[in-house]
Amino acid sequence: MKSQLIRAAFAAVMLGLCGAASAGGLIPEPNANAVVYATKANPETLVLDASTAGRGFMTSTMDIPVVPGPFTFVYPEWIPGEHGPTGPLADVSQLRVSADGRPLAWRRDKVDMYAFHVEVPQGISSIKVRFTVLLNSPDVMSTPNIAVVNWNRALFYQNDINYHDYYIKASIILPAGWGYATALSAVHRTGDRIDFAEVPLTKLVDSPLDCGRYFRQVLLWQHGDAHQWLDMFADAPQDLDVPAKILAAYKNMAPEALALYGSRHWNNYHSLLTLSNKIGYQGIEHHQSSDDRAPADYMIKPKWQMVSGDLLTHEFSHSWNGKYRRPWDLTTLNYQIPQRTDLLWVYEGMNQYLGDLLSFRAGIRAPGQYPQYLAMIYSQMATEPGRTTEPLIDLTTAAPYLYQASGQYSSIRRTAGDFYTEGELLWLDVDTIIRTRTHGRHSLDTFLHLYSQPKLTGPITKTYTRADIEKLLNEVAPYDWHAFFQRHVYEVAKRPPSGELRRAGWRLVYSAQPNPFIKARDKLKHMHYQWLSYGFNLGRHGRLLDVREGSPAWQAGMMPGMKIEAVNGQRYRRSVLKYALVSTEQTHQPTVFIVAKDRWFQTISVSYFGGPRYPHLVRIPGTPNLLARIMAPHARH
Ligand SMILES: [Zn+2]
Repeated sequence: MKSQLIRAAFAAVMLGLCGAASAGGLIPEPNANAVVYATKANPETLVLDASTAGRGFMTSTMDIPVVPGPFTFVYPEWIPGEHGPTGPLADVSQLRVSADGRPLAWRRDKVDMYAFHVEVPQGISSIKVRFTVLLNSPDVMSTPNIAVVNWNRALFYQNDINYHDYYIKASIILPAGWGYATALSAVHRTGDRIDFAEVPLTKLVDSPLDCGRYFRQVLLWQHGDAHQWLDMFADAPQDLDVPAKILAAYKNMAPEALALYGSRHWNNYHSLLTLSNKIGYQGIEHHQSSDDRAPADYMIKPKWQMVSGDLLTHEFSHSWNGKYRRPWDLTTLNYQIPQRTDLLWVYEGMNQYLGDLLSFRAGIRAPGQYPQYLAMIYSQMATEPGRTTEPLIDLTTAAPYLYQASGQYSSIRRTAGDFYTEGELLWLDVDTIIRTRTHGRHSLDTFLHLYSQPKLTGPITKTYTRADIEKLLNEVAPYDWHAFFQRHVYEVAKRPPSGELRRAGWRLVYSAQPNPFIKARDKLKHMHYQWLSYGFNLGRHGRLLDVREGSPAWQAGMMPGMKIEAVNGQRYRRSVLKYALVSTEQTHQPTVFIVAKDRWFQTISVSYFGGPRYPHLVRIPGTPNLLARIMAPHARH
């Protein structure tokens, strides 16, 4: 994906990072200097009773090492990969603290509500903290058949520590008979209880666990001791019957990613994938695993693979870009220090391009369809009124809150999704500039090989600044990269990048022919795209999801949340609306809508006579087709 203040130099020392990260200004010292009581020899122990996870809750019991006197323990707030203060504090319930078998009074901090204070009596070296972890409000993390276990939701730890030095020994008790998968190493199993080795807190939180009744593990790739696994958990067993053709494409993921980056920073990688219509669509990256959540028929329906086939490749790519290479000010030493998200235009923006690129190169999506995909996202970015006032840097800076925004008027507000979508265009632009300026000798792949050096490290972090990125790009292809990013990211850019299309040998056109990606998305998500014609997108049953500012629908007074009841006197159906749209081209009569909102009905006439309109890319004759080269498989399969 979809935390804490550090000086880069400080981070480089504390994290044992390889490579220098340049200082990016003065930022207050982080609160990560406390003496750590939970050491490797004397770790915090955590027993997570997940046997009730199918019913929507778990019970966590911790023994936290302490010393007598005032002590503060905290619940993780700023969650890596979620890029915000999203630790679900309201899901913490039935908190009980005891010392040596006797209850110990606790109180919540009045300002920092993630912090809890106790007074540890003399002679006490650990306190027992126990609480109920609610799983399904507001996010759904479990069903009667599956549970997604994010350890950060199930633990407390000592305040102000460096999470590389703080050790936890975790155990889990699974629902009877369920399977599980995680990047953590198990040391012992008794029945449904699994004990894991003690690991630094950062590694535990970086290693989510999925468990479930219906489980299928597929070895996607192996080389020596290194493995890549696909671990699928479904609500229904038939959703695990993945067609051989789809699985075969996923086996190309690792070879393509290794060809792209020329390095590896994981030893055993698990793509943990839930297949459920109850658990929301989500992907969260980790060093040696990803927490992927998709609809029930995601792995069996080719349309899903076409529309959202970059879910696993996007998160996999993050192992290199986001976990190994990370913005200096997003890199923190515990989960209470706020993350700075300004450089997400690299972390997420470039990754959106790379995740898509891997999905096409691996054959999860047909490489020849990339131009149509690109046309869809280009037209989306080109019709956002919000871009005339908000530079991309403001969206990344405000990301922790924009991620929480709901859909209405998203084109006016702009959303966190924009630095993904526009990021794709931006980094395609970078790729084509490198290819053109070096006459095809280099590409963004060359940059990524340098970016992710050295070849094999295991899961560590190496930070970067904006200047580091520009310097490295300059080594690959000399160019004023600073001015380039200034123009497209740091200043208001009224139009999305467009040089990349021309350089790649393509141009954008609009026609009545449906764009295949828009068509597939509409079908899967029960939407009806009229963004470039009337100027709205419809959801189920004619509900207006968004209205484009300045469009004919906007001019006529339509707004999100309205429900179209009738079109030209006929009850609304997709086919009725389609007929009306096509007819206007001949009749030049406004389309008359009856809409409902909050029990009130209204008649709205929309003056649009242009017929259906969809974006497409077409070739510029006589120019090299860079898109074909970029998306072609790069690894030998
Ligand atoms: Zn991401």
